[in-house]
Amino acid sequence: MALAAGIFAVDVLTPLEVSVSILYVFVVLVVSSIYGRTGILVAGLACEALTLIAHPFSPGDPWSHWPLIDRVIGAVGIAMSTLLVMRNQSTMDALQRSEAFLAEAQQLGRTGSVGWRDPRGEQYWSRETWRIYRYEPGQTAPTLAAMLARTHPDDQRLLEQTIEKAFREQTDFALEHRLSMPDGETRYVRIVTRIAREWAGEAGFVGAVMDITAARRAADELQRAQSDLARVTRATTMGQLAASIAHEINQPLTGVVTNGHTVLHWLNERTLNLDKARTTAERVLRDGERASGVIRRIQGLLMKAPPQATDVDLNELIGGVLDLLQTELRLRDVAVQTQLAPALPAFLGDSVQLQQVVLNLVINGADAMSEVTGRPKVLVVGSREGADGEGVVFVRDSGIGLDRETVDKIFSPFFTTKAKGMGMGLTICRSIIEAHGGRLWASPAEPHGALFQFILPNKAQVDL
Ligand code: ADP
Repeated sequence: MALAAGIFAVDVLTPLEVSVSILYVFVVLVVSSIYGRTGILVAGLACEALTLIAHPFSPGDPWSHWPLIDRVIGAVGIAMSTLLVMRNQSTMDALQRSEAFLAEAQQLGRTGSVGWRDPRGEQYWSRETWRIYRYEPGQTAPTLAAMLARTHPDDQRLLEQTIEKAFREQTDFALEHRLSMPDGETRYVRIVTRIAREWAGEAGFVGAVMDITAARRAADELQRAQSDLARVTRATTMGQLAASIAHEINQPLTGVVTNGHTVLHWLNERTLNLDKARTTAERVLRDGERASGVIRRIQGLLMKAPPQATDVDLNELIGGVLDLLQTELRLRDVAVQTQLAPALPAFLGDSVQLQQVVLNLVINGADAMSEVTGRPKVLVVGSREGADGEGVVFVRDSGIGLDRETVDKIFSPFFTTKAKGMGMGLTICRSIIEAHGGRLWASPAEPHGALFQFILPNKAQVDL
């Protein structure tokens, strides 16, 4: 307002030859930095009005040729600058709106953007990237160092190496890693970047930082549910089996005990009748045989249940079991190493039963390491080809181990050293492997732990 009044005064009072009214352009510019489009329009119109009102009062002869041309130039200048400033304002508004939409969409998709020109230099971070790394914008310089400060200590080296390699070799990269937040929470991000040669006129990387914590937790939950299911299935099968064995054997044993008591009673009373004693002894024998028949039948059932023989890829089978148990093993701090023979031929077998065997051996290995302290809990699962083309699968742990005496007992039914153990796992595993024409055995591992191995005949030897 004061500026416009000043210009008006100069215009009316000073005998300047040039068009003073062009100075109103400044008024329009000043207004544009404070007000929106309507404000600019009003200011532009007001300046036009002032410049026209001032004309008759300007010194000299305002209606002669040159002053009139000057005035028109001034008026056109004000009109053009008003229009340009208004257009600029619209573009700015549109840009701000689109940025707001983008920020909103990034927040919804939990994906921020980043830009890099050099690995250690300052980066560009969008608002969502600041949020993902839990920094206030401006709290720190957006650099790799700031990213590393929020990265899980075990993943820092990986992140640094990946970024340095990508810059050195000028290749795109994608990396998933953990973040360690100031409150101790662990979150997961996935960074995907692409080389952008035209980025701000220089080679650099543009990329997206995705917060995948929710998806990762859901996947972990699923894994956990799957391995729980595997454990429950295992426990239920064992439980049912044990219950039916107990029931089947209990009956003849009750007979044996009752008849034994009767004979004892006769002996005590000295009323032994030889014929009756013979019949009772025969009953004892009959019941005893019934009980051992039950055991034989169960063993036969386990061993002769015809396996559903198909081509089995042992490495794939091991991978499947380890996938299933991944979360469980991670939660138990077990580091799994695989040593899989490349180009292992296919073997004939029932993949579900064989999976059950590997699952049992892996869980037993993890159980054996649960008490271990002071050394890493490493479980090695591997495969190799035997001298005659047999398939060998081994599971080696670094747990409490087996002594000579225990090695002989662990495959016996109901042998267990675990508080909640059933002692049937290894018995069933051995039956399954023997039904496949193979062998399962255990030995102490060096320097700690136990080594379980099973061998499956090659396809030419097999007779399922
Ligand atoms: P459960 O796991 O229910 O005890 P198993 O038949 O699978 O039944 O195992 C029987 C016993 O063999 C276990 O209780 C344990 O004492 C021993 N055992 C099995 N695997 C291992 C191992 N990897 N290391 C040491 N001992 C083992």
